[in-house]
Amino acid sequence: MKPTLYIVIPCYNEEKVLPITAPLFLEQLTSMQSDGLISPESKIMFVNDGSKDQTWSLIKQFAAENPAYIGISQSRNRGHQNAVLAGLMESKDKCDITISIDCDGQDDITVMTQMVQEYLSGSEVVYGVRNSRKTDTFFKRATAEGFYKFLNAMGAEVVFNHADYRLISAKVLKEFANFKEVNLFLRGMIPLVGFKSSSVYYARKERFAGETHYPLKKMIALAVDGITSLSVKPLRMISSLGFIMAIVSILGLVWAVVAKILGVAAVGWASIVAAICLLSSIQLICLGIIGEYIGKIYMEVKERPRYIISERTEDQK
Ligand code: UDP
Ligand code: MG
Repeated sequence: MKPTLYIVIPCYNEEKVLPITAPLFLEQLTSMQSDGLISPESKIMFVNDGSKDQTWSLIKQFAAENPAYIGISQSRNRGHQNAVLAGLMESKDKCDITISIDCDGQDDITVMTQMVQEYLSGSEVVYGVRNSRKTDTFFKRATAEGFYKFLNAMGAEVVFNHADYRLISAKVLKEFANFKEVNLFLRGMIPLVGFKSSSVYYARKERFAGETHYPLKKMIALAVDGITSLSVKPLRMISSLGFIMAIVSILGLVWAVVAKILGVAAVGWASIVAAICLLSSIQLICLGIIGEYIGKIYMEVKERPRYIISERTEDQK
């Protein structure tokens, strides 16, 4: 039997780009259907992430025009990761496979065919990996690639240059539903579920219209979130640092005592000030890192819902 595919597309303030990309998604869906890869019940599911513009009315319009389009709307903006999660959880009982992709056309839509073929030959998860970022600016490319390297160095293992364009089977999603954490970093969490996976490669394009929602500041926030929700390596680094500083302090102490005995203990204002500045800044950084983890624990113990769906296009018919 042919698998039913749900394409999950998060949208936040995308009124400029949706009218361009929605027909392209449909074209890809119908071409996969006519190739006999997926079932006729396959759908394109838009997840409106509390947009403040016309995005949701556009989605409702698409759904009214063609039953292949469906949409859900979050009760407010909760961020990209939560929007994708909402779409995946909503789809997991209705289909056999999902593909999540951004709505801006930057990720090559046509490699979905390859993804489905990989699924048909046994993979339960297929990662979309960017093998070229020629169209990104030098700055975006450098920061984005630095992002992956930094994450891996900090013990958060992620697939290099893979964002949230991936195929996940319903089987994997049902297991993934047991990962209850509130701090979401999907690209680091999905590999933890396991199962057979593979990758397909594509060149990343420019946004068709509108603007990125991930400027440097948000990318740093995402990196910090990713690291602290996947790894405790920074905490271990603090311990190592404390250990090194302890050795240095003992040497300093020995030196001070010897200088005192020899009577050469000149009033060392500069060295004291330098030591205070250095140590207090290190301590503050360490406190900050520990604080990040405590903040994470705080959010986790509350167990607030990760998404709230306020409307579904299917309910409106
Ligand atoms: N997005 C979302 N909620 C947000 C921010 C972004 O659902 O709060 C969606 C957005 O509509 C897009 C995807 O997440 O489909 C990726 O955003 P964007 O293209 O701005 O990021 P970039 O590709 O520049 O990293
Ligand atoms: Mg984008």
